[in-house]
Amino acid sequence: LVIYGDEPWEPYDRVRLSALLTGKESLQSIQNRLQVPEKASVRQFHNCAVVNIDRTNHRVIDVQGRSQRYSKLVLAVGSKSHIPQIPGIHELDGIYRFRDMSDAERLIARTTRSRYTLVLGGGLLGIEAARGLCRSGTAVTIVEHSERLMAAQLDNYAAELIKTHVQKQGIKVITGNSVKTLLGKTAVKGVLLRDGQALLCDTLVVATGIRANIELARKAGLPVGRGIKVNEYLQTADKNIYAIGECVEYKGNTYGLVKPSLDQADVLAAYMSGSDAVYMGSTATSRLKVVEESVFSAGNIGQNVAPTSLKKMVWKNDDDKQYRKILFRHNRIVGAIGIGPWQDNSRLQEAIEKERRIGFWQQLRFKYTGSLWSGDAVNNVASWPENTYVCNCKSVTKGDLSVAMEAGCKTVEALAGKTGASTVCGSCKPLLANLVGGEILKAESGSKWLMVSSIMGSVLSLIFFAYPGLPFNVSVTDVWRWDILWRNETIKQISGFSLLSLSVMISAISIRKRVKRVSSGSFSAWRLFHVISGIVILGVLVAHTGFRMGVELNFWLMLSFVVLVIFGSLSSLLVAYQHKLDNPMSRKTKSLMLWGHILLLWPLPSLVIFHVIKTYWY
Ligand SMILES: Cc1cc2nc3c(=O)[nH]c(=O)nc-3n(C[C@H](O)[C@H](O)[C@H](O)COP(=O)(O)OP(=O)(O)OC[C@H]3O[C@@H](n4cnc5c(N)ncnc54)[C@H](O)[C@@H]3O)c2cc1C
Repeated sequence: LVIYGDEPWEPYDRVRLSALLTGKESLQSIQNRLQVPEKASVRQFHNCAVVNIDRTNHRVIDVQGRSQRYSKLVLAVGSKSHIPQIPGIHELDGIYRFRDMSDAERLIARTTRSRYTLVLGGGLLGIEAARGLCRSGTAVTIVEHSERLMAAQLDNYAAELIKTHVQKQGIKVITGNSVKTLLGKTAVKGVLLRDGQALLCDTLVVATGIRANIELARKAGLPVGRGIKVNEYLQTADKNIYAIGECVEYKGNTYGLVKPSLDQADVLAAYMSGSDAVYMGSTATSRLKVVEESVFSAGNIGQNVAPTSLKKMVWKNDDDKQYRKILFRHNRIVGAIGIGPWQDNSRLQEAIEKERRIGFWQQLRFKYTGSLWSGDAVNNVASWPENTYVCNCKSVTKGDLSVAMEAGCKTVEALAGKTGASTVCGSCKPLLANLVGGEILKAESGSKWLMVSSIMGSVLSLIFFAYPGLPFNVSVTDVWRWDILWRNETIKQISGFSLLSLSVMISAISIRKRVKRVSSGSFSAWRLFHVISGIVILGVLVAHTGFRMGVELNFWLMLSFVVLVIFGSLSSLLVAYQHKLDNPMSRKTKSLMLWGHILLLWPLPSLVIFHVIKTYWY
């Protein structure tokens, strides 16, 4: 294996250049040395660009004129910064790019002298560069020609949230405008914007996108478009020359993110070692921290498609600062945008890649909670499908982690060392921790009480079905005249209205669940209160009915109430036992029971109203 690299450095993690700029990482910490088996034969040439490919003789010629034979050649030459056509941009001093380590070093050196920095381009890279630079006391302004920041990844609302974050860092943002002319004779002194505005600037950072490095391939006569054209085996028109990464164009698409490049590298490595691997394209997914805010964007976010062709659902939190949007085509999820923490990220990515069907209940859950999956299903990584990506940056799936765990990796560090997961942005570390500690699930607090109350609830409810009803007294001389409970109008009204008020009180749990401002007390305590109150209600119901189901309207009222209690009791029984029964089956049953419980609640108010009217009418 012979590796040529144009840069003077050993391989490093380009994604972490932003952190290098902000001073959070050092040169050493972002190094990403090649890891190969001991016996592998590897030669690396750094600072040594390949300048020609001699396809006839299967040789590459490097910048020093040396020639190297190849049997297979892989082009992974990436991209370069796109420099827009502005007069003077190539001649004046003070103009910078942000693509590689040398650019980052130059920018770091420049920050000490710069007073006014202008970042041209409000994409991810421009924002990251601006954030890195504003820390050194220079006044930073971003100029973005489209109407919003990160236009490729975000919609208007999400972009506004990010803009607010960026502005809070002291960065000025100008959108819908661009640089027309540069001012200055030898060095840039300012810029004139399209709308006539003049801005002072001694440093201009150009972050206006990338262009694939296609020149080498073009010179060699290989077909190129926006990138080097490849087929599903990542093969160019020459069967001995392959291409992967940002320099590639597959079915008209080019990608500017790490994950597609790693997908391609995986497929190519498998194909070259004799497997039947094929590349089918990648979903553009960004899971990033932008100015300390989590940003998620994946798949089709509604750009370049007719607005009516996609169904959209939006969720915002109380102060409208967390924003989540999902897009469907025929109830299949095709894209999503999220600002702020979103625990669904990993599963969402898998669902979008597979265009999974999202059922009515999941959509309803999203509408009210902002999550497509229950907290349990999302938080328990062990239950995720094997092909779900846990580490987006390194394309590590839950399946890869399971294999590593079987091979003896029992800590986050060991998993990271073996699979590379969490070694790039680190945002998946909690998920790894969840996986290695997944077996030790703690019991819910108060679970014993929950269990006892749930069993009591189920048994009492079943008695209503199995038992024909407490008999009325046969003689007025009986000592215990219990039938007075059902015969005396006043007592019947007391038990009836007690039932009504207790039922209103018990619904307090749904307030705790849905109204975020009501957050006092743990949810477990509220749930226990709810279940115990349910038992009290059942007791009062026995007093009100004597275990009789009644007929006609009364029967339907009793039926829906008693079945509702059975569903509720079974679901809380499963909650009480979830630390022992943690498997997909029990989680699914629990969620079904809970939904049944909630659904049966709906007809109750009208049935109760009719019951009360009927009682007083007759
Ligand atoms: C600051 C920054 C932050 C980023 N953040 C993210 C992020 O958060 N998430 C994300 O998904 N992506 C991010 N990206 C994009 C990501 O870095 C790229 O998608 C990824 O590096 C592409 O990998 P690649 O191997 O195709 O190309 P590159 O990483 O560009 O590697 C190509 C290498 O080939 C060398 N080369 C070029 N021509 C020749 C030649 N003729 N001979 C020899 N060598 C040559 C180049 O010098 C370069 O070193 C970021 C990029 C930057 C610059």
